[in-house]
Amino acid sequence: MNIILFGPPGAGKGTQGSKIVEKFNLHKVSTGDLLRDEIKNNTDIGNEIRSLMDEGSLISDNIINDLIIKVISNKKFYNRLIFDGYPRNLNQAMNLDSQIRKYKQKISCVLSLNVDKESIIKRISGRQTCINCGMVFNEHYYPASNKNHACDPKFLSKRTDDKKNTIQHRFETYLNKTLPILDYYKEQNLFHQINGIAEIDQIFEEICRILASLET
Ligand code: AMP
Repeated sequence: MNIILFGPPGAGKGTQGSKIVEKFNLHKVSTGDLLRDEIKNNTDIGNEIRSLMDEGSLISDNIINDLIIKVISNKKFYNRLIFDGYPRNLNQAMNLDSQIRKYKQKISCVLSLNVDKESIIKRISGRQTCINCGMVFNEHYYPASNKNHACDPKFLSKRTDDKKNTIQHRFETYLNKTLPILDYYKEQNLFHQINGIAEIDQIFEEICRILASLET
């Protein structure tokens, strides 16, 4: 089964994606993470996209599609992918369809996490990632402590695009470019709405119910 996790920045796609990976033995593809790796590794692509990422603008479809093809064509991940943060516009959605067809797979469902703008701003502005182990915490909702995190707190860091004015821009980009593709998936009957404001475990239970109904 291949799943698309859909929702605004800060909706919890990364958190829920990791939980789904663990329970269903899938492989998560976050285009944001792939792009941040390019920046971290100082590649040509990394240098090209650094400032666009910092200001919260979308990266060109050509770059994104090239990254995605490498994953979809990899036999190791055949039919067990979770897409987080992709597709972000209609062109990417259509490219995904054609690649999925080409490699004889299918999209099983689109899980859309609904979260209001106010909560998103609070979630993103409090977000902290551990650069040592990759765990994600939130100063307001889920602070790191010695009970839930083994690394030194000095490793906790904020993403460079998690600043107040950038969050606003990212949210507007989501409304203008990304949200319209929901109609594309509604027409294909793949779409499931989820209340993304509920507790992490409650959201996950709902996701599990949906995925179980697909498996039967
Ligand atoms: P994310 O980690 O999903 O919040 O993405 C962080 C940033 O990476 C976005 O603000 C964009 O600049 C870029 N990005 C991630 N995924 C995509 C995508 N599918 N298309 C274009 N840009 C993307």
